Amino acid sequence: MSDRQLRRVIPSIDSADGAGVRLRRSIGQRSSVRIDPFLMLDMFSSDRPDDYIAGFPAHPHRGFETVTYMLDGLMLHRDHLGNEGLLRPGGVQWMTAGRGVIHEEMPQQEAGLMRGFQLWVNLPASEKMKPAAYQNLEPEQIVEAQDSQGNRIRLVAGALAFAGQQLVGPVSGISRQPLFVDVMLGAGAELTLPVPRNLSGFIYLFEGAVALGGQPLQLQAASELGDGDRVSLRAGEQGARLLLVAGEPIGEPVVQYGPFVMNTSAEVEQALRDYRDGRLTG
Ligand code: FE
Repeated sequence: MSDRQLRRVIPSIDSADGAGVRLRRSIGQRSSVRIDPFLMLDMFSSDRPDDYIAGFPAHPHRGFETVTYMLDGLMLHRDHLGNEGLLRPGGVQWMTAGRGVIHEEMPQQEAGLMRGFQLWVNLPASEKMKPAAYQNLEPEQIVEAQDSQGNRIRLVAGALAFAGQQLVGPVSGISRQPLFVDVMLGAGAELTLPVPRNLSGFIYLFEGAVALGGQPLQLQAASELGDGDRVSLRAGEQGARLLLVAGEPIGEPVVQYGPFVMNTSAEVEQALRDYRDGRLTG
C-alpha cells in the first residue's frame, strides 16, 4: 500500500453560471485545471435567494456527464423529454448527457440555504454520442456508514472498504468507474480509505480542517491526489467534511465550448449546428 500525497491545489474562485447563480468553481475554471476525467467542479452555497433564485433555465449538454449532489435545498430538474425529478437534501442526480440533453435546473424555494455540488465527468470518444440516461437517487438510497471513531460516509458511487465492511454505492454502470463519497470526519479523527491506483482523483474540503498524508488541505479547493492506492486523512479539532472523488482517466484530447465537450473542433461545431437545428438530442 502507498499513500497518495497532495499533487496540486486548485483553489476555487467566485463565479456565476446559469441565469446568475453564484458559485465557487475550482476544477474547470480554465482548461489547464482539469483532472482527467473531471472537467469541472462547482460548489454553490448561499442563504441569500438572490444568489440562486434565477436557477439554470433551459440549456444543452453533449459529450459528458453531470453529477448534482444536493446538501441543502430543493432543485427541480426537467428535460426536453418531460423527465422530471426533485433533488432533495442528500439526493443525487447522475446524468449522462451523451449525444444530447436540453434541460433546466430550478430552485424550488424562495428562502433558506441552497448548498451542493455539480461535477462534470468526461466521456471517452466511444461513448460521447450514446443516448442520454439518468440515475436519480433519493437521499435514502445513498449508502451510509459510520466507524468506531465517529467518522461517517455517504457513498454515492464506487466500491469502498470502510469500517470493516465492503460497501458499494448505488450509482452503477458508469463509464469511468467513479468513486464519489461524502466523508465526515470526527474531531481529531483519522481515516484511511483505499483509492484504486488506476484512478485519478481529488479531495474537496468544504467544512473544518483536514490533513492528507500530514499535509493540511486548503478549504474550498480541489486538492489533486498523487499516485498511490489509499488516502490517509486526519481531521482538525472541529472535524472535517469533504468530497473524495476519483475516476479512470480518458487520455483523449478535450475540446470544450461551454456545455459541449468533444474531442475535436469539428465535433463541437457539429454540436452547435445540431443544437441550432433542433437535432442535438437525436
Ligand atoms: Fe445542466
